[in-house]
Amino acid sequence: MEFATRLLHGTSGIDSVTGASSIPIFQASTFHQFDIDKPGTFDYARSGNPTRQALEEAIAHLEGGARGFAFSSGMAAISSVFLLFSAGDHLVVSEDVYGGTFRILTKVLTRFGIEATFVDTTKPELVEAAIKPTTKGIYLETPSNPTLKVTDLRTVCAIAKKHGLLSIVDNTFLTPYYQRPLELGADIVIHSATKFIGGHSDVVAGLAVTHDEELGSQLYTIQNGFGAVLGAQDCWLVMRGLKTLKTRLDASTASAGKLAEWLTAQPGVEHVYYTGLASHPEHFLQQRQASGHGAVLSFRLAGRPQVKAFFDAVKLPLVAVSLGAVESILSYPAMMSHASMPVEERAARGITDGLIRLSVGLEDIEDLKVDLAQALAAAAKVQQITASAV
Ligand SMILES: *Cc1c(COP(=O)(O)O)cnc(C)c1O
Repeated sequence: MEFATRLLHGTSGIDSVTGASSIPIFQASTFHQFDIDKPGTFDYARSGNPTRQALEEAIAHLEGGARGFAFSSGMAAISSVFLLFSAGDHLVVSEDVYGGTFRILTKVLTRFGIEATFVDTTKPELVEAAIKPTTKGIYLETPSNPTLKVTDLRTVCAIAKKHGLLSIVDNTFLTPYYQRPLELGADIVIHSATKFIGGHSDVVAGLAVTHDEELGSQLYTIQNGFGAVLGAQDCWLVMRGLKTLKTRLDASTASAGKLAEWLTAQPGVEHVYYTGLASHPEHFLQQRQASGHGAVLSFRLAGRPQVKAFFDAVKLPLVAVSLGAVESILSYPAMMSHASMPVEERAARGITDGLIRLSVGLEDIEDLKVDLAQALAAAAKVQQITASAV
């Protein structure tokens, strides 16, 4: 079956008991045991809930893994996966990981004796060079946020295998529709389902899928023990979002590609970051390991005053933290996702004061162009004022 069909009929199409067209929301915290000698499939809802199970089976099926898990947020999924490691363990991590991942690694896990080295994972030789005798895992995010750098998953997962390390990939930006890291050699794939999978800016959720059963049972112990599970209603919302994942991404990605090309030709836009542009340094690598470029792009204006004028003028997209929704979302990494990062660290990662991230939604592309054009014109006026003032 093709992906679009699997989204609808894969594992969670209809309720097997009633035939209901959507899996019911089992709003129950506990389950009656009809015979204490023969425990039922479900006993207590932290340990398992039929609605959650349907979502967990669906994501495992779509990623091609053995076991799926639903958590109360992307960060709950990520934190729970990190609990697979122990005091004394060392991790090699993509240098531009999601800010929340950076924070838990540097502010919390260090207190438990888990150490991380951040490297530019687009250079596999740097990954290998960072491996120490205590290294137990490699944690990747590709394309990275917000400058969309691409890590070669096959090569880096092979390095992990060679050294007996767990490889973990945050697949939030591309989803299993475009990229399936488990097929490229990864052991665990993670999602913030708050983004493209949920897709409607109405639910916070996280997912994880393990390549094999054994890792799955280890992660189940943590999910059940740590308890950061996703509630039944939110599981239902995520499944509802999942059904239209392909259709939403097809439309948003097509618009993102056109907007990226268009932006490169707009006055005042100094650079456009999008893996779909032939000028992107890892354009061909991205085409080899993923079937699409996704709906997120970034572009750079001259600086803070231009960005301010642009945001003041723009009307259609939400200006917000988050991405991957039906409505377009603009965000300003320097003051939002990466505000806590020291200026030099930000600059080293290309997150300058002029950088803007755009997650393209489902609006008519001509309307988006008109709106972005008038906002860019407002930004260009600032340039003239500063230029003539000098
Ligand atoms: C948003 C995001 C997260 C965190 O997910 P939450 O659902 O907000 O906890 C992790 N990784 C990436 C790439 C994200 O965009």
